[in-house]
Amino acid sequence: MNQNGFVIRLVFIIMILVVESCAHNPYSKTNRQYKKQTKVLSKAIRQYPLSTIESDSVNQPPYFVGTTNFNLRKPNFVIIHHTAQNSCEETLNTFTSIKSQVSAHYVICKDGTIHHMLNDYLRAWQAGISKWGNLTDVNSSSIGIELDNNGFEPFTEPQINSLLVLLDRLKKNYSIPTSNFIGHADIAPGRKVDPNVFFPWEQLATQGFGLWYEDTTNINLPINFNHLEALRIIGYNMKDTSAAIQSYKLHFAKDTLSRVLSAADDKMLYDLSKKYQ
Ligand SMILES: [Zn+2]
Repeated sequence: MNQNGFVIRLVFIIMILVVESCAHNPYSKTNRQYKKQTKVLSKAIRQYPLSTIESDSVNQPPYFVGTTNFNLRKPNFVIIHHTAQNSCEETLNTFTSIKSQVSAHYVICKDGTIHHMLNDYLRAWQAGISKWGNLTDVNSSSIGIELDNNGFEPFTEPQINSLLVLLDRLKKNYSIPTSNFIGHADIAPGRKVDPNVFFPWEQLATQGFGLWYEDTTNINLPINFNHLEALRIIGYNMKDTSAAIQSYKLHFAKDTLSRVLSAADDKMLYDLSKKYQ
């Protein structure tokens, strides 16, 4: 082969490789956008925190003194969702569409595949308007995990197995407290109902992700037990009390319809609230 023939052949091979790499990754365009956005953020971090105080009454220092002792802020909560979409592919599309304005750190498909879509240290747009205890900006301190599920079906075994592996890694990496593994419905009562009633919260709790109540057979409720106060202690936003009860019942009593607490619910609630105190 002469030199020209070699060059033509080389160009042809490169073209095939480029076309193939595009065909293999339909998200190459949005991945470039991801890289661009992380570049902008890293630039923001590198900026000196120069004083912006505009007041003659405050002494301005003559030079910047940067501390030598710091690291990145880390997530302290995990929020679990169901996607309410019909496939993993549909969710990946949604989370890479600028128009949707929603995202999550992880998407777990029905076959157990875990898509890690955003660095854990960055802020995903998953919690929306939400509140847990006194925490109002949940996105800033949490990891969002979406499970592929249309909202009305059980979760698959490979999906839950992958979730448990992921939760274990997150809990260890960031020292996330056991009580801080919660659902979207918990932090947004009346607005969100995910993950759905099939979600195995009790199984998660037995493995150290979220709290669960003990056997309530021998529990005698104190006369002054206040169930609304107990819900508040756990973390529920009590602005709309019946919505908070509904979220509690979805999580702990596997009940999607009731907005009223039964005597059995009260016993579970009493036991739980003691664990949260
Ligand atoms: Zn959600």
